[in-house]
Amino acid sequence: MALTVLGQSPDRCLIGGNWVAPIGAQTLTLRNPSDGTTLCQIARGTADDIDAAVAAAEAARSGDWGRATAAERGRVLHKLGQLVLDHCEELARLEALDVGKPLTQARADATALARYMEFYGGAADKLHGQTIPYLDGYTVYTLYEPHGVTGHIIPWNYPMQIIGRSVGAALAMGNAVVLKPAEEACLTAIAFAVLAQKAGLPDGALNVVPGLGEEAGAALANHSGVQHLSFTGSVGVGRKVQQAAANHIVPVTLELGGKSPQVVFDDADIEAALPFLVNAGIQNAGQTCSAASRILVQRGVYDAVVTQMAAAYDSLRVGPAMDDFDVGPLVSSRQKEIVTGFLDQGQGLVKAGQGQIVADAPAGGAYVTPTLFADVPPDHALAQDEIFGPVQTIIPFEDEAEAIAIANGTRYGLVASCWTENGARQMRMARALRAGQVFVNNYGAGGGVELPFGGTGLSGHGREKGFAALYGFSTLKTVAARHG
Ligand code: NAD
Repeated sequence: MALTVLGQSPDRCLIGGNWVAPIGAQTLTLRNPSDGTTLCQIARGTADDIDAAVAAAEAARSGDWGRATAAERGRVLHKLGQLVLDHCEELARLEALDVGKPLTQARADATALARYMEFYGGAADKLHGQTIPYLDGYTVYTLYEPHGVTGHIIPWNYPMQIIGRSVGAALAMGNAVVLKPAEEACLTAIAFAVLAQKAGLPDGALNVVPGLGEEAGAALANHSGVQHLSFTGSVGVGRKVQQAAANHIVPVTLELGGKSPQVVFDDADIEAALPFLVNAGIQNAGQTCSAASRILVQRGVYDAVVTQMAAAYDSLRVGPAMDDFDVGPLVSSRQKEIVTGFLDQGQGLVKAGQGQIVADAPAGGAYVTPTLFADVPPDHALAQDEIFGPVQTIIPFEDEAEAIAIANGTRYGLVASCWTENGARQMRMARALRAGQVFVNNYGAGGGVELPFGGTGLSGHGREKGFAALYGFSTLKTVAARHG
């Protein structure tokens, strides 16, 4: 039986409220990474479809959606959040099929998507301008206004969460959205759009054009009708998107990769840290921008941490997403090749621990063995490059100064954490670590819809999530009225 997405055929684009075949009438094959079988055909949108989507978004902006009050926008997002909760299980199953994400993790993503809608639904009418004391005879005030049409290009690793944080904030501010999901995984983007229609989002306020990056993605990034770009993905493509934005002088948010460290000091509560140290490397099979792929450990507890992390790795089981093992497959055979290439580069290193692919895992699945390397030199490729697979490196250090130098010793700066019971050191480390988010005695803070997120260096710029995203998805107007 052909796969449908909440009743919708997945080979369509949503443009101006209509589910239409792409103008070029071409499709792409979506595969199930757990076994390599074909899931369905999706639309292969091109520049013509992007043109139509941008026109539909512009019409929504100057129509019903543009006239909606902030409170009305918030109400639609709240309703959408409730619909997401109502369909949580179906969304989780679609994500597990499409991304290869173990079901429990996919359920958490669906819940996070609902939470984003609740948060941005509540925030829609909370961003207020100011009145500014000025010259005698003037009244001056500021207004936060939507950019207009916003383009959103997203990756395959956390489709629901990334839609939640970028599309949710953009809609809350009254922008009209054109969304280009990843060609490897776009089913929950389609499901989200189906639910948005049910929630009463006016036609054209959200348009979805699946397709290839070099076709639909590049067309969206280069479109002169787009007034803001939000890109989440690799550094290489981020560079192209920023160049495209420069041609039209439009603002761009870049949420790129990372090589994030967790720093464990001698006085840390190792027992408390252990689940965070391991989970931050293997969650979503390591295909997480904020994966903690580097574990820096002070000499006094080094052997204990290596031994305990190795034991945790040895107990990891890898298998099909629907069977909900600790680790699922990678998203595609191409991603498997990339990660296998990194594992080959680790040949001379100490393999401290390794998970196990279950015996009956389908041969066509994109499985790799989770691997923990110890005693890794900080300048080794495995400690410098984003791997995007279930691979972690442990690096020893002597003192705080060396820990900071190693932690900040990559070109990325997405997130970082430190584990120590020393309060003064916690404060010093929070300031010294170069990252957009720093965690003290935890990692990830439970996902934190409310917490501003984004990077420095090669990890990008601009902030999504939390209230901070509302500033990014709006433009500030100053009104100075002279009345005598
Ligand atoms: P990618 O850059 O290959 O693709 C991301 C998106 O860009 C996809 O939709 C793709 O179709 C599109 N794209 C590809 N070429 C394009 C082009 N020339 N013009 C416009 N769009 C184009 O990234 P990926 O492999 O899908 O995702 C993995 C990367 O994303 C990792 O580096 C990861 O760290 C990063 N990521 C970052 C965050 C964050 O919040 N910082 C979150 C998730 C993923």
